[in-house]
Amino acid sequence: MTEFDIIREFFQRCADAPDLRVGIGDDGAVLRPRPGFDQVVVTDTLVEGRHFPPEFAPADIGWRVLAVNLSDMAAMGASPRFAFLNLALPRADREWLHGFTEGFFELAQAAGVVLAGGDTTEGPLCISVTLLGEVPQDAALLRSGARAGDRICISGQPGEAMAGLDQLLAGTMPQDRTLIDRFRRPQPRLALGRALTGKASAAIDVSDGLLADLGHMLDASKQGARIDLSQLPVSAALKSHAENAVDYVLAGGDDYELCFCIAPDRLALLRAQDVACDVHDIGEVLAEPGLKVIDVDGNEYHPARQGWEHFSGARE
Ligand code: ADP
Ligand code: MG
Repeated sequence: MTEFDIIREFFQRCADAPDLRVGIGDDGAVLRPRPGFDQVVVTDTLVEGRHFPPEFAPADIGWRVLAVNLSDMAAMGASPRFAFLNLALPRADREWLHGFTEGFFELAQAAGVVLAGGDTTEGPLCISVTLLGEVPQDAALLRSGARAGDRICISGQPGEAMAGLDQLLAGTMPQDRTLIDRFRRPQPRLALGRALTGKASAAIDVSDGLLADLGHMLDASKQGARIDLSQLPVSAALKSHAENAVDYVLAGGDDYELCFCIAPDRLALLRAQDVACDVHDIGEVLAEPGLKVIDVDGNEYHPARQGWEHFSGARE
């Protein structure tokens, strides 16, 4: 199979979209942005052994490389439109490509994303996706808008993905696959992100851990915060996985949930909307700098770990 066979067989799919004038097959894609919208561009790379274990199924890799980008899109409040896929493959492996494209296009279809171009080359397995999306003019959600008095919210169940990765790495396949599936198939919170435009004051997606990413948002907003330990969601699956389940919630990575700040009256409006996931109110933005987790007795709680630091050698 040549590079061109691979493109034709696996990636060139019928793409009928009014904002795509030229797709795969020419030297470049030609897009026509909709008037009244700002364009949002995000990109993310996955390297085997670094961002997913070597035994990860090709379909899960295909899903994941798109999901992590969609999660960034959701955090901007944007709707994804076009994907560009740069693929370095050790060899032209039909079975691998079938699996990969199955996972990739399953999520692409669900999210309304069209693959509009890319590059295919031989090399150590490395996959990069760039995603273009749109958001109504000036409505993009930024990290920097949080204000004292805002509520701090988190979607879904942070911590479960990290617990699932523990189970995968331990190699013992539990009967209940809840946690492993949360790591295998992150669910980008696109409906929530869109619902947050015009309501939330700041948003970020959680990939390094709740405290770490909330910290980034507070830094960008020049604010501090108090998190109420008793308000953190801790699922039954997480409790049965670990005694320190709450530390997973605070510092587990790979969640791809949305953390956002929102004025209390707007949170009430959001509650009336269907956003296809749970939203938990876990704390408050404060004018004093610093991020504290407070237990029911008013004492500060210090989790055993703080989250994943990029380039710290722990994990990237
Ligand atoms: P060029 O040699 O002009 O750079 P390529 O042969 O690399 O062009 O690509 C031909 C077409 O196939 C282009 O439209 C490119 O965007 C598309 N393409 C290549 N690889 C991929 C891929 N992995 N996924 C999607 N589109 C791809
Ligand atoms: Mg060319």
